[in-house]
Amino acid sequence: MASAPPLETGTLVGYPPPPSYDEALGSNPMYPAGPYAPADMKAPVPPYPPQDYSQMYPPTPAQQGQPVTTPVVSVQTVYVQPGLLFGDVAVQAHCPVCQQNVITRLEHTSGALVWLSCAGLAIFGCIYGCCLIPFCLDNLKDVTHYCPNCSSVLGSHRRL
Ligand SMILES: [Zn+2]
Repeated sequence: MASAPPLETGTLVGYPPPPSYDEALGSNPMYPAGPYAPADMKAPVPPYPPQDYSQMYPPTPAQQGQPVTTPVVSVQTVYVQPGLLFGDVAVQAHCPVCQQNVITRLEHTSGALVWLSCAGLAIFGCIYGCCLIPFCLDNLKDVTHYCPNCSSVLGSHRRL
């Protein structure tokens, strides 16, 4: 074990002393002497390394030289027939029979709500004609929308 070389922690004997700081700056081309480094050395270093965005965003078909196929967007105009919006007032609707936009003609019919109201009034004692009041109230009746031209039913509005 005595033949082991000494640890190279101390100053190596026989080698020239290491150059001083100024000598190292003067001799090292990477660190030229002078208070200021050349312009290329002072180039601002971007805080983030330049990334290759082409990897993050693959090139579009146009950039790849392939013909751009525009996606066919089929615009289908839907004429919303206000079938669900038939209320107790006349509405403008498109009659599929006579192919015209008409204002519906209302017709009130005694529906379930009228009969229930009549029964309710009869239960509470209104049996002398008062139970027939609901039959006179259009607010309690069902509404049927007719076409004023061809009298076809366009829609209906049920109270219940
Ligand atoms: Zn019609």
